[in-house]
Amino acid sequence: MPELNPDMPAELSTESTAFRAALDVIRSVEPRVADAIASELTDQRESLKLIASENYASPAVLLAMGNWFSDKYAEGTIGRRFYAGCQNVDTVESVAAEHAKALFGAPHAYVQPHSGIDANLVAYWAILGDRVEKPMLKKFEKRQINDLTDAEWAEMRAAFGNQRLMGMSLDAGGHLTHGFRPNISGKMFDQRSYGVDPATGQIDYDGLRESAKEFKPAVIVGGYSAYPRKVNFRIMREIADEVGATFMVDMAHFAGLVAGKVFTGDFDPIPHAHIVTTTTHKSLRGPRGGMVLCQPELAEQVDRGCPMVLGGPLAHVMGAKAVALAEARRPEFADYAQRIVANSQALAEGLIKRGATVVSGGTDNHLVLIDVDKYGITGRQAEQALLDSGVVTNRNSIPNDPNGAWYTSGIRVGTPALTTRGLGTAEMDQIADLMHTVLSQTTSDAGSKAKFHLDPAVSDRVSKQATELLAPFPLYGSVTL
Ligand SMILES: *Cc1c(COP(=O)(O)O)cnc(C)c1O
Repeated sequence: MPELNPDMPAELSTESTAFRAALDVIRSVEPRVADAIASELTDQRESLKLIASENYASPAVLLAMGNWFSDKYAEGTIGRRFYAGCQNVDTVESVAAEHAKALFGAPHAYVQPHSGIDANLVAYWAILGDRVEKPMLKKFEKRQINDLTDAEWAEMRAAFGNQRLMGMSLDAGGHLTHGFRPNISGKMFDQRSYGVDPATGQIDYDGLRESAKEFKPAVIVGGYSAYPRKVNFRIMREIADEVGATFMVDMAHFAGLVAGKVFTGDFDPIPHAHIVTTTTHKSLRGPRGGMVLCQPELAEQVDRGCPMVLGGPLAHVMGAKAVALAEARRPEFADYAQRIVANSQALAEGLIKRGATVVSGGTDNHLVLIDVDKYGITGRQAEQALLDSGVVTNRNSIPNDPNGAWYTSGIRVGTPALTTRGLGTAEMDQIADLMHTVLSQTTSDAGSKAKFHLDPAVSDRVSKQATELLAPFPLYGSVTL
């Protein structure tokens, strides 16, 4: 059990009382779980977290998840449930959807997906429902899928599996769910990738257009996990229209920047895409989960997500999504989103001025991709050397990566978490200095892509500096366990 804080105020904050009481109740059944939860807070407080996909949700978001909504089955969606007694689930699901629609200016929101991957599956099947199932039911003059003869069903199944999809290549920053073989999307669709212009590190829209005209995909997917630039969704929609494709955007990483109006006009996916998917726990700073936003013509298909591909909705998480989306509609959130990008640009500039190579020469969003080849080490070596020095990042492929997807030549860093914690551009410059110090003093062991040497005096000193850097920015400052 963690020590009680001697500086603890006589009067406990509401948040402290809530989390303490919850831990006491859990501890009375399985103390190891209560202790692990408490340790997780300590660990998060102590780590300089530059993982681009992580954040810190508010106490209100976290607390919304621990309750009896977890006990309720609510398959189906609002107004079309397969279970009785869903009136309270209806409330949280519709409040979350209402906030999502208002926040993003989207005609329809489906807030059930349990994760980003699940949101993508819902979206893909909605697109296939619209493009394959609907016209084939019409052709066979059937209203329901269950009315098809075996031969008709076989024809429809073959048509489902015969669709083409274009997504961003993995080494340019795309995601596995954008049609790659290890993911189910690569088995559902015949996939072709688009990438970046080697000279600029930015999406090659002309190449994408040429390739789409030749490949004639049913679906073009925009969005990424490791691309440091804005994406022009207006151009991508034009290309999709030219080839008759459905345009989907997966904004899992940058939803917070859309919500906070950093990405507007051509760079806001909502007005340009037919369908948009997202996670809710990355830059959007909500609970772990996913969401689908779409144009009205796809709404009915999207709402079939559960039970088509999703298990019963997590009503407790939908409640937390509603809380997080309400937070994201406040003016403070737009300010937060602006600071995420200012911080990421300061980090990139700090690295570049010290001699680092940054993919595409900078960043427009929340992440920076460092090419560590310059330092004579692999992404794997860099990731571990930084971790040993108290700086938490992850290795990532860079365009045309000479070291492949396992060892890689890149380090991806992102600022959503540290910005939530309150760090600003001055701290980003210091972090760039710490990172450059570690990377420039790490040497690869001969012939190895994993083993390296870093003087322990350096990693100890950097660790200490990282801790000092965080000290003025308490995480979950209202919580004393
Ligand atoms: C993180 C991410 C996902 C997956 O989200 P999960 O919640 O982990 O399933 C999907 N797409 C993109 C682009 C992502 O970055």
